[in-house]
Amino acid sequence: MAEEKQLTLFEHGDAEDSMVEQMNLWSAEAESNQSTAQAIPSWSAAAHISAPVAVPLSAHPKGLWETSVVRAPDLPDLDAVAHEAKECRRCKLGGMRKNAVPGEGNPHARIMFVGEGPGADEDAQGRPFVGAAGRVLDKLIASMGLKREDVFIGNVVKCRPPGNRVPAPDEVEACMPYLARQIELIDPDILVILGATALKALVDPNASITRMRGKWLERSGIRIMPTFHPAALLRDTSKKALVWEDMKKVRACMKDFEA
Ligand code: URA
Repeated sequence: MAEEKQLTLFEHGDAEDSMVEQMNLWSAEAESNQSTAQAIPSWSAAAHISAPVAVPLSAHPKGLWETSVVRAPDLPDLDAVAHEAKECRRCKLGGMRKNAVPGEGNPHARIMFVGEGPGADEDAQGRPFVGAAGRVLDKLIASMGLKREDVFIGNVVKCRPPGNRVPAPDEVEACMPYLARQIELIDPDILVILGATALKALVDPNASITRMRGKWLERSGIRIMPTFHPAALLRDTSKKALVWEDMKKVRACMKDFEA
């Protein structure tokens, strides 16, 4: 309820243009304001400049994604991952859900977004990011000239933690094979990490989203951009500007891939 109220303010506040409108100003702003625009090398340049543009994930050896994770190579496609997740009882969340939320989107997406886990709306519908935070995510996606169907949206855990608590480490570990397999199958160019839980699960349990947001990481040829979770923007609108900066980098990187 409080979240809904904040979203309304967020969308219609006098001092705020809508997020999409503001994001549409990105290019003009980047051209006219060289002091804030960051130099973003082309993809091919970034590929051989590992720092400071992209920090290899090997700098964060504790990440679960490619290290301690149990792989699920027997799941041949995204439908198989979704089917398995819907039947899953690997952790206690499996016994509490209304619906598992395996994730959805384009199986060939060039951009993949990863959040924390389903909330009440997602649990009710079996779809990711369909509540208030989802409406913010929709705007971030639209600001890049994309639709939800163009990208893939997933979560660290596929079942709702009770009361929307942060998923426990054993729940994250139990669920990680599904996400790891989704990343492997989709093989996106860009992975956008939404918030601390996804950052800690995918990169390093000790990582700080405040310190690492906006900085490119790279793993297995995938560029990884950590940013704040959309729900954090609803709680603290001052984070919007930072997320815009991060999405600006993602958009520039996307354009490099298209070039
Ligand atoms: N928050 C998340 O992290 N994921 C969702 O799917 C919805 C809200």
